[in-house]
Amino acid sequence: MEEAPFKCLHCGHDFTMPYDKKVMVERACPKCNSNSVRRIKKKSANK
Ligand SMILES: [Zn+2]
Repeated sequence: MEEAPFKCLHCGHDFTMPYDKKVMVERACPKCNSNSVRRIKKKSANK
């Protein structure tokens, strides 16, 4: 399983979680327990 970076939209906390495309897991911020978390895409060479 790969790890993907996430960011909490509620408190702005950045964290990394195991991420599996095949499994839809409900993600929650480990800090504030909000489920308003967004996966952060890695920056590509192009801006
Ligand atoms: Zn949070």
